[in-house]
Amino acid sequence: MILHVDLDAFFAAVEQRDRPELRGKPVLVGGSAKRGVVAACSYEARTFGIHSAMPMAEALRRCPRAIVVPHRMERYADASRGFFQILGDFSPDVEGLSLDEAVLDLTGTARLLGEPAVIARAIKQRVRQELALVASVGIAPIKLAAKIASDIDKPDGLRVVPPAELLAFLHPLPVTRLWGVGETTRGILATMGLVTIGDVARYPEASLVARLGALTGHHLAALARGEDRRQVEAESDPVTIGHRETFEHDVDDRGELAVTLLDQADRVARRLRAAELRARVCVLILKYDDFREISRRTTLAAPTSDGALLGRTAIELLHRDDLAIEPRKGKRIRLCGISATGLVPRDAPRQLGFDEATRAKGERLGEALDKLAAKFGTRSVRRAVHIADDPDDHE
Ligand SMILES: [Mg+2]
Repeated sequence: MILHVDLDAFFAAVEQRDRPELRGKPVLVGGSAKRGVVAACSYEARTFGIHSAMPMAEALRRCPRAIVVPHRMERYADASRGFFQILGDFSPDVEGLSLDEAVLDLTGTARLLGEPAVIARAIKQRVRQELALVASVGIAPIKLAAKIASDIDKPDGLRVVPPAELLAFLHPLPVTRLWGVGETTRGILATMGLVTIGDVARYPEASLVARLGALTGHHLAALARGEDRRQVEAESDPVTIGHRETFEHDVDDRGELAVTLLDQADRVARRLRAAELRARVCVLILKYDDFREISRRTTLAAPTSDGALLGRTAIELLHRDDLAIEPRKGKRIRLCGISATGLVPRDAPRQLGFDEATRAKGERLGEALDKLAAKFGTRSVRRAVHIADDPDDHE
């Protein structure tokens, strides 16, 4: 079973938590009142038809007394760290989808911790107690259904979809709930008389393929049958953006190493920005002249795409752990590198808003990574297994 958990009105809820005078009031989180869009809004604001990603001017027209507060990313990053710490106690397989949204694989966990609904209630309770925030949880045999289930009873939702009820749960829902169905595809499906997921499930797959192409046709047919092969991709297998290079001659000078690291950090940061990502974790990689490779990592106070900060962090790691660098065999450096991992969308406030507004269509991390792969080739999206496997690695 897969558990999807999502914090309710995340940014607005953090603001209302931190500032009691905002509680019970329509709160809009965003930039200036005149320009920009609503990054997040409280449930009180939603009753006016306001939603995230709406132009701020339009939101204020609908509710002139709404209180506009600037977003404070560091506060949200703090809350997000606490959230992921809690989740880590419930499953070793936690996949972060954004700052306030994750999927957990409950396989194995369920035996230790109890029924899925018990786990869901425990997560909600800890989020409430430790973060003073509200989480909605959905549990289902597949990712698609778990995500829908967490959304369907918001706020403060809890919905469990047992395997035997999966199709009964999915089929009455509109096709736009299917992962990958945007306005264009919805329009095409509507002309074919297909409005609900059940309609798609009952339609001949060959005809779907003929109309929508092989990729989309087979994809939608499978989802409508309740088949979603996407696994929970846990942090232990993180996607990274990194840069490493082998020196022409082995290096035994920390200063020379530091200069190289700063340059590498800039390259990594540039690629983060090009991919509209920020990194939560900076990893320093060193390979000695006896081919021993070690890595050291640190979690940053807030996600960044700032090369100077990444460079400083890597150099701090070098000094903090007092890594042996000496002019003798086994202690000279032949390669150094920096990896950025724990990636989150760069414009997180806006993208989270978008995600809420357009649900599965939102610009989530996965899509950002797809873009990244398209831009730089799949080799740039490296699986950092070598880091996780390194016995010297610690956090
Ligand atoms: Mg949320």
